Amino acid sequence: MVIIRRMRVASVAGLLIVNSFLLSACSTVPVTGRQQLSLISSAEMLSMGNQQYDEFLKDNAVVPAGDSRTVMVKNVGRRIQSAVEQYFRQNNLALSGYGWEFNLIDNKEANAWCMPGGRVAVYTGILLITNNEIGLAVVMGHEIAHAVAEHGDERMSQGLLAQLGGAALSQALSQKPQETQQLWMTVFGVGVTYGALLPFSRVQEREADHLGLIFMAMAGYDPNEALRFWQRMAQQSNRSAPPEFMSTHPSDESRIAGIREYLPEALRYYKKPS
Ligand SMILES: [Zn+2]
Repeated sequence: MVIIRRMRVASVAGLLIVNSFLLSACSTVPVTGRQQLSLISSAEMLSMGNQQYDEFLKDNAVVPAGDSRTVMVKNVGRRIQSAVEQYFRQNNLALSGYGWEFNLIDNKEANAWCMPGGRVAVYTGILLITNNEIGLAVVMGHEIAHAVAEHGDERMSQGLLAQLGGAALSQALSQKPQETQQLWMTVFGVGVTYGALLPFSRVQEREADHLGLIFMAMAGYDPNEALRFWQRMAQQSNRSAPPEFMSTHPSDESRIAGIREYLPEALRYYKKPS
């Protein structure tokens, strides 16, 4: 009995320490106002994002600039970039240290992601599901929304806490460089070769869907296409080997319902291109 009581006291004390540690390590999601865990500074996130992106480009086949699909990826990317910048300006939010870049990667996996700092990779495999420029705007709007809502920071912080005992990023990098790099790749959905995939949390997915719809609408793309895109994605999940993007972004009834809920708001931002 005494032992149990002591253990409870000890665990309560432990919780208090963890809680005060977490409270001091929180930031606010720029748009939704949700509090999120943040153990890593923006500067560190940007610097690691740039380094990982440069290495990724060196190790992977980038589709040349003259290819019509590359032209489309860069065009959609730039339009969404302007929408994001406009949205942040209008809402008095800061978006500092961004060095936008949009590349198409010759890879049959259906995948896409965005590093902190706005550097995006779209794999040729996902173009078979996006079908057209508006479908691509759904994916790029969604991935860029994850980045500007700093979901990577949140996920990386959770990962450092769970897997590396809450080590600071610099410390984790110097002590366990390989594990830390693998954690980073998993967090950003870059590849399955490093082990277990980590699906984005439901809360993060809802935020990225919500913001992504607004950004694509502001960029002049009809947000209704998002319903069709995620329905196509859901159909892919019945296959024996669902696409990588599907594994990190499950498309189910709750996602589709969320998109229906956000569409009226997004449509208010939508100006049909004349
Ligand atoms: Zn997502």
